Amino acid sequence: MHTSTMIELDGSAGGGQLLRTALTLSLCTLTPFRMRGIRAGRARPGLMRQHLTAVEAATRVGNAHVEGATPGSQDLVFVPGAIQGGDFRFAIGTAGSTTLVAQTVLPALLRAERVSTVRLEGGTHNPMAPPADFLAQAFLPLMARMGANAQIDVKRHGFFPAGGGRIDVRVEPCAALAPVHLVERGDVRGVRATALVSGLPADIGRRELDVAARRLGIRRDGQTLTDVTPALGPGNVLLVAVETEHVTEVFVGFGERGLAAETVAERVCREASRYIDSGVAVGEHLADQLLLPLALAGSGSFTTLAPTDHARTNAALIEKFLPVEIAFEPQHGKTWLARVDG
Ligand code: ATP
Repeated sequence: MHTSTMIELDGSAGGGQLLRTALTLSLCTLTPFRMRGIRAGRARPGLMRQHLTAVEAATRVGNAHVEGATPGSQDLVFVPGAIQGGDFRFAIGTAGSTTLVAQTVLPALLRAERVSTVRLEGGTHNPMAPPADFLAQAFLPLMARMGANAQIDVKRHGFFPAGGGRIDVRVEPCAALAPVHLVERGDVRGVRATALVSGLPADIGRRELDVAARRLGIRRDGQTLTDVTPALGPGNVLLVAVETEHVTEVFVGFGERGLAAETVAERVCREASRYIDSGVAVGEHLADQLLLPLALAGSGSFTTLAPTDHARTNAALIEKFLPVEIAFEPQHGKTWLARVDG
């Protein structure tokens, strides 16, 4: 029985994230929703494989009733039922991001009565999505600080565009998320760089690490070159992890045909340097992803860079499901304070 009234949502202000946030909060609050205009402004609008898998996963985890879950659909009705933990398997079937699907069901599985495992097949390192390492080193440790224990295990790397990767996620029940306040990040304790190379000359990764070492002052023991062959398709990723006293942030760059390894590395280093120099606790991607768990916790705050469209549209959607107010306040220099108040 669902007593809550259906929330009407407009998805056209953003991308897949608005849909995933709606799915997550619908499960957690038992509120049905209808979203129109899903990804309406994107080049290929409507539900794509990754989004359909997120809908499928949310449906299974929350025993939901769903209408409109077809490729290209811009109109979805989702009526959640009771959350049930268990052992789940989902295959995106393309290089669609497994981490985004994992993030969709994670908050719901925290509310299950038993430990859950989720096996996801697809991409593990995709442009425009959190790489698996970002979940492992940046996002999940903060969830753990809020009381939620979850682990991600990369069983097989899957690079865009071939995919073929696999992650296994394990989620323990958590009675209630505790608020966190990440205002000071403390001193930088270390910067590490990892180059992943799959089916390509190792020299590519070596050159990327050389640039990162020079630009960010990374010592030899902070550099790792990993050959992840055999993966389904070729791939190359440079990851830079910045560990400070209170937070770890992860930045990523993707090798592309026709793009020099040095250029890939320079871009990642520029992003990492911008974060290091700014002194904020939370980088721009982590910022839009943290709002949802903080809202579920009832409050929280963090310093960050200027809010992105993702952060603003996500915040507005979260406020439709939960009794919180989310504000972005400019502070000194490039620093902003994001606040979630209950
Ligand atoms: P669309 O194609 O409609 O834009 P999508 O489903 O691919 O949709 P977005 O709505 O763009 O996804 O959301 C992408 C999510 O991935 C955001 O939460 C964003 O912060 C995150 N993300 C993107 N790049 C990175 C990165 N380099 N590191 C960490 N997170 C990232």
